[in-house]
Amino acid sequence: MYTKESIERVANNLLIELAKVDNSFSNPPYITEENKFKLVELLGGKLEYIDSIEVDGVIIPSENDENENFIIQLPASIERTSHLRDIFTIAHEIGHLFIHMGYGSDEFRNQKNYNDAMMRFGNSEEENEANHFAGNFLMPRDKFENYWKEKNGSLGEMAEAFGVSKPAISTRAKFLGLIRW
Ligand SMILES: [Zn+2]
Repeated sequence: MYTKESIERVANNLLIELAKVDNSFSNPPYITEENKFKLVELLGGKLEYIDSIEVDGVIIPSENDENENFIIQLPASIERTSHLRDIFTIAHEIGHLFIHMGYGSDEFRNQKNYNDAMMRFGNSEEENEANHFAGNFLMPRDKFENYWKEKNGSLGEMAEAFGVSKPAISTRAKFLGLIRW
């Protein structure tokens, strides 16, 4: 059972570790069109776009390569995907990886069949947790609050700075108590 605080810590710690390896992870936007493949690679996995996928994203442990521990798959078809949606989905899948799949621990290899479907019903707890991770990873609290002051709460400028959609900014601002629900 994860609390909102513990999920925030997992996301913050991951950003700190990434920034040690690559300075571009010190500031937003944390996932971009340019760095998304590199990010997944730095984490020890592979990002790929495939046609035969009916959901927003899938994450599967990989068994065939020592240097490739997992694969994140996104839909290749243009109707199903958009840049900003992909960014959020990648962060969401990374959340499943660290929170639910035990990545980095011995338990990881035992979860070979974890197959995420974002739209799936009946598993909303884990979906909420992965979404909460994504919000924290893409829009960490401290940075978000600083930028919010700097940009006078402009949703457009915030969206630009963090590389996410305006609704994502708005939801995060409400969660952090910067604007009313
Ligand atoms: Zn999910």
